[in-house]
Amino acid sequence: SYQHIEIPPNGEQISIDNKGVWRIPAQPIIAYIDGDGVGQDISPCMRDVVNHAVQLCYQGVRQIHWMEVFNGEKAAQLYDGDWFPQETIHAVRQFKIAIKGPLTTPIGGGFRSLNVALRHEMDLFVNMRPIKGYCALPSPLKKPENTNIVVIRDSSEDVYSGIEWQAGSVEAEKMLDFLCQEMGVTRLRFDQQCGIGIKNISKEGSERLVRYAIAYALEQNSDSVTVVHKGNVLKFTDGAFKRWGFAVAQTEFSAIPHSNGRWLEIPRTDRPPLIIKEVIADNMLQQALMDPEQFDVVVTTNQNGDYLADMLTAQVGGIGIMPAANLNNEVAFFEPTHGTFARIAGQNSANPTSSILSAVMMLRFMNWHEAANSIEQALQHTFSAGEVTFDLQAEQQNSTILSCSDFTQKIIERL
Ligand code: NAD
Repeated sequence: SYQHIEIPPNGEQISIDNKGVWRIPAQPIIAYIDGDGVGQDISPCMRDVVNHAVQLCYQGVRQIHWMEVFNGEKAAQLYDGDWFPQETIHAVRQFKIAIKGPLTTPIGGGFRSLNVALRHEMDLFVNMRPIKGYCALPSPLKKPENTNIVVIRDSSEDVYSGIEWQAGSVEAEKMLDFLCQEMGVTRLRFDQQCGIGIKNISKEGSERLVRYAIAYALEQNSDSVTVVHKGNVLKFTDGAFKRWGFAVAQTEFSAIPHSNGRWLEIPRTDRPPLIIKEVIADNMLQQALMDPEQFDVVVTTNQNGDYLADMLTAQVGGIGIMPAANLNNEVAFFEPTHGTFARIAGQNSANPTSSILSAVMMLRFMNWHEAANSIEQALQHTFSAGEVTFDLQAEQQNSTILSCSDFTQKIIERL
């Protein structure tokens, strides 16, 4: 039993069968963390929209039983200064699907960030960011709606593993010595006062990510999976990621060579094959900006994915509207991509779209597509009517600036 978590009595637990298939009961228990800062404004709005959409679509046959779990500032209050209570991790593992708001990074708390800690603690190795442009939102592109790309980014290894040493430290000197004396490194332009970082890309890590991306693309009937890498320069890390990824496509998904000789394709009986492409990371940034329509699912390493997802987010209208999910084969954690935006917290003015679209991702994950589609259409109609929160005030004259709760009400009216 839990100390501060109350399990909703009439809900049912989500489970995963022995083939790895998720079983979503009609009355599932879903864990939530409202989050800090504007999380307190936007998360209740998100739940309100979801509850209305589910009620309208399923008339009570399906219903979400929300279960609050704690992290961040609220946890610190409840659990005597503990920002990161273990029972939250237990509950999320037990109940499997969770949705959270942004969390403050405690300063000097020994955490790099609560989000990173959550991902690492549960080995949520897939960071998924569907980047979709909506009509009528401010964007540097003429047609933001042509961008519809799902970035699947590793979040378990690469240069962000935090294996690095400060220039001049004993450890850095030791590494430099080792590299020059024992590993035959002669190409260091400066071997004094040099910070050293490690880029680690493993076979198992690469395989599980690409496997996830291909399975997802097949399930979604996507046109292509693009492996983004910098393997022309980083041969044994990014290059290996691409090679291991392509090997997974061939050995586990029966991919065969594509006609251009460089790519692969996975035959499908009911539609054209799923194309497995590869693009060098820097080229990808240009292509995705100039011709986004050629991409569908994109799978990439941690650092490449970080830059690519943020660029794509900017190109369709920014951080206030973008959702994300952190996943593995046992847990699915949905969240807005933005932070706590503490300056306007509690003022009922933040944009709840990112949080609402995280819930749309969650509903799709649960195969509750009717509710997901209904919310997404209501959002698009609200944007098209020029009814937006302050951050999306378009250049067009007749837009109306709404509060967080009034904007939410407009969406609910259009469900
Ligand atoms: P932030 O996302 O909070 O704010 C950056 C800017 O984005 C804001 O100034 C605002 O212009 C815009 N913005 C963000 N959310 C918005 C919303 N809902 N509506 C309208 N505009 C919005 O980023 P920050 O200032 O770098 O970080 C603040 C705190 O949040 C830090 O403690 C940071 O560690 C944390 N953080 C948490 C997460 C997370 O929980 N996933 C992510 C990023 C940052």
